[in-house]
Amino acid sequence: MGYHEGMFDSHAHPGTPTDDAFVCTASTKDIQLLSPFRFRALGWLPESRSEPDFDLLDKAAVEGIHIGEIGLDRRFGDKEKQERIFRTALSIASARSRIAVVHIVREYGRALSILREMKPERFIVHGFTGSLETAREIISLGGIISLSPRAERTSAFDELLKLPFATETDMATGKEEMRALMAWNGRLSELTGIDIGARSERVMKEILA
Ligand SMILES: [Zn+2]
Repeated sequence: MGYHEGMFDSHAHPGTPTDDAFVCTASTKDIQLLSPFRFRALGWLPESRSEPDFDLLDKAAVEGIHIGEIGLDRRFGDKEKQERIFRTALSIASARSRIAVVHIVREYGRALSILREMKPERFIVHGFTGSLETAREIISLGGIISLSPRAERTSAFDELLKLPFATETDMATGKEEMRALMAWNGRLSELTGIDIGARSERVMKEILA
């Protein structure tokens, strides 16, 4: 029903080349996968286990590539290592004026205190599944929350819909991803009466400008 405009995926992974997604990696080893994309970020997730290549991350940032996804994930061990890497990556994002794309799984408290302390200029908390209070604090710190279909299973979902947010699939770019994004934006537009796809694209184009 006319919610087809504004198709921009605020968080996806490298698949088919497109300008309609902000594409991130989970490891600095995947840098070559980013070359066909216009909106891109190089990152490292705790699941990658090995150490990120910080020199490469910094070099990429100098060349205009954003930083992400990076973050904290309770499903994987070594909290101190995770935190050290998260802080270093955030400092690169700040030093090079790049967006930080943040991944948080069951570590909202710790991640928020680091964000509060390090104050990244521009950041997105992707795949947000936290509380209303956490969402409000992220927004007050200048961050953007991005919702994937998983958000619908959280207890704060109805309240989150009243806040500004971007929308994402967290899938590899391609036809299936675009179908999923269209369905998700359509669902949210029905629930809110707002053209969520168009609003999300506006929010993302603003931060990516
Ligand atoms: Zn992702």
